[in-house]
Amino acid sequence: MKQIILTGDRPTGRLHVGHYVGSLKERVQLQNSGGYQEIYIMIADAQALTDNAEHPEKVRQNIMQVALDYLACGIDPEKSTIFIQSMIPQLTELTFYYMNLVTVSRVQRNPTVKAEIKMRNFEASIPVGFFCYPISQAADITAFKATTVPAGEDQEPMLEQCREIVRKFNEVYGETLVEPKIVLPSNQACQRLPGIDGKAKMSKSLGNCIYLSDEPEEIKKKVMSMFTDPTHLRKEDPGHTEGNPVFIYLRAFSKPEHFTEFLPEYAGLEELEEHYRRGGLGDVKVKKFLNNVMQAELGPIRERRNMWEQRLPEVYEILREGTKKAEAVAAETLQDVRRAMKIDYFDSGNLMKLS
Ligand code: ATP
Ligand code: MG
Repeated sequence: MKQIILTGDRPTGRLHVGHYVGSLKERVQLQNSGGYQEIYIMIADAQALTDNAEHPEKVRQNIMQVALDYLACGIDPEKSTIFIQSMIPQLTELTFYYMNLVTVSRVQRNPTVKAEIKMRNFEASIPVGFFCYPISQAADITAFKATTVPAGEDQEPMLEQCREIVRKFNEVYGETLVEPKIVLPSNQACQRLPGIDGKAKMSKSLGNCIYLSDEPEEIKKKVMSMFTDPTHLRKEDPGHTEGNPVFIYLRAFSKPEHFTEFLPEYAGLEELEEHYRRGGLGDVKVKKFLNNVMQAELGPIRERRNMWEQRLPEVYEILREGTKKAEAVAAETLQDVRRAMKIDYFDSGNLMKLS
């Protein structure tokens, strides 16, 4: 069977380091592994509008920003198709049909939807479109017959919901859609990177991000202001490394060569963590090291981004071409779906036969 990837991001802001470790890095690796015949990367503007209906300008402006972040991280338009969700009407039509296969209570039980409703203070006023976005996400994935979705941990309930829709569709209308699987980063710290404020998730909507496009001084300022262990008041105090954002970031980003280069007095992260737990290691020293690590990781990404910023007409063409290509694929799947649902009325003369 063809191995196909579909993944994407909401254009609600520039992409941050949580996206990088949680999904982008994995995508680039999978892209370059040669194990996938087709790769689709979607800028999910229609999904972004489900909770930004009153801010279309924000969504529009971030299309280019997200595309630049992709290219900066190493998404190669020769190997991956980057496209804009709302430009593909077939996705909306698929969503409409899939809505009949999902109950309201099933969506209400989706833990990510629950958490996001809470985070956005939607409780009493959930837009119907927002409520339905897991179904629209199932449409996005299945339209490309994706087998694999590289994403962060928060997407697991979405994938489960998608698989249920696929199973239900195939059961009712006959084998048509493909069940996808999620690929999470193997490094636990990367699956849900906390914000610099120590909140459970770095998220554009929470404003607790280090952005891939941040300038070196900004990164430094953010790292030095990060939350650490609140019980570690003085350097001598024993500290906690579990749940400590600074150490979670080090687990997500640091490599052995960073120790050799910036902190040679420690053999590696384990030794540094041990020292912190024992007491005698100050937060400032750890943060300075983390800053060096982040600068080393983000420097080349920023450089590539700057280079692409000088070539915006090319980026525009990449998006236009990618969207055209993606639409053709989604149109084929929609045709299969309509045929399976027996709503392909004008594709044959059958409609004229009375039963
Ligand atoms: P928004 O606040 O608008 O929802 P977001 O920051 O949550 O934005 P999304 O566009 O919803 O970002 O997520 C895109 C992808 O990045 C998903 O695969 C998601 O799992 C992953 N991702 C987002 N935030 C993190 C994070 N903090 N750690 C790991 N992965 C993340
Ligand atoms: Mg999100």
